[in-house]
Amino acid sequence: MNFYILTLFPEMVMNGLNTSIIGRASKAGYLNIEAIDIRDYARNKHHKVDDYPYGGGAGMLMQAQPVYDAYQAVMESIHERQKDHSENDRRVRVIYLTPQGEVFSQKKAVELANEEDLIFLCGHYEGIDERALENIVTDFVSIGDYVLTGGELPAMVVIDTVSRLVPGVLNNEESAETESFSDGLLE
Ligand code: SAM
Repeated sequence: MNFYILTLFPEMVMNGLNTSIIGRASKAGYLNIEAIDIRDYARNKHHKVDDYPYGGGAGMLMQAQPVYDAYQAVMESIHERQKDHSENDRRVRVIYLTPQGEVFSQKKAVELANEEDLIFLCGHYEGIDERALENIVTDFVSIGDYVLTGGELPAMVVIDTVSRLVPGVLNNEESAETESFSDGLLE
């Protein structure tokens, strides 16, 4: 399974996800996790990615252009791979981590674990310019009713939970089948 994380802090997510069971599963080839630095797609001299909201309002937003271009770059690499493996051109789900989204659950993790590719979009400041979100996001997901400084920790929570459901990631002693929430009950 392939995870692509669009973020301003790639080292934060990769350091976290390269350790323990998820790190081991990536090394063994069950998972492919890539972080894409949105700042690399800023077109201005100082690689600035924040801006004042288009329609006014408090705080700063992440600009639509670098977010959209980073997304396009990921989509191109997915399409390249799909061509090589003659896979169907499936709609790739893009998950925006936001406190305004549907609260994440084991049920949602099971649904997402059926996908071949998932793209995660991590916000910062007051969030991301609506014009980017409208164009690319398929799922708005919150990890709970509180506000963090960025979407990186939420993306890591979702990726960790989904990864445990990917065949081969857990060994027998760590099996997910009898765990809490797998049948609606606690273990
Ligand atoms: N202004 C936004 C609001 O009131 O909904 C909050 C922005 S928050 C300071 C910055 C970023 O952190 C968000 O764009 C989102 O990506 C992430 N974030 C914060 N809390 C989150 C949560 N509970 N679940 C998922 N993502 C969250």
